[in-house]
Amino acid sequence: MTASLLGEIVWAVGTVAWFVIRYPYARRARRAATVRVDGLSRERILLGVATVGLFVVPVVYLATGWPRALNYDLNYAAVAIGVLVYVASLWLFRRSHKDLGRQWSASLEIREKHQIVRAGVYRLIRHPMYASFWLWALAQAFLLPNAVAALSGLVAVAILFFARIGFEERMLTEAFGEDYRVYMRETKRIIPGIY
Ligand code: SAH
Repeated sequence: MTASLLGEIVWAVGTVAWFVIRYPYARRARRAATVRVDGLSRERILLGVATVGLFVVPVVYLATGWPRALNYDLNYAAVAIGVLVYVASLWLFRRSHKDLGRQWSASLEIREKHQIVRAGVYRLIRHPMYASFWLWALAQAFLLPNAVAALSGLVAVAILFFARIGFEERMLTEAFGEDYRVYMRETKRIIPGIY
């Protein structure tokens, strides 16, 4: 098997795993009572952008080979790095869902009886789930042998992350005041000790 084909298969398996991890939380979230929703139309657009970059563009590439002119061959070292990054991403994605529990929502929401989570991976960074998205997009860059399909995830995650993060932290600061401010002083966003 060529390294390029292996990379594509790994990408597809990891993406299925991503949906399997999320599914039970998305199901539960549909029934959860919400007391505040912020920027819903903006958040819908951002989630659409993320879906296009992390899912639609790669699937179109895998199904049709488009855009063929930008194909290249992978080597096994790139696939190995992609696998490691992917495993780290999926682990962090699962862990942050478990730690965030019923406070999770796909867009920006405050649940009834919402509590600030500071335990588990949230002790290390404030946005472990978004950190897992960055790692997912990075894995995609190593695993797909096409310039557009490889980079579309990073572009999409950058847009989602930078367009959302300020609003999310403002919402949580308004909802939890000093508690969230203290948490912000004690932690970084996605890279422990750095950013
Ligand atoms: N930004 C976080 C959570 C993503 S899910 C992460 O990357 O891990 C988005 C929802 O999580 C938001 O609607 C917000 O209400 C909630 N949220 C974010 N950080 C939180 C925290 N520390 N405690 C409780 N809820 C949080």
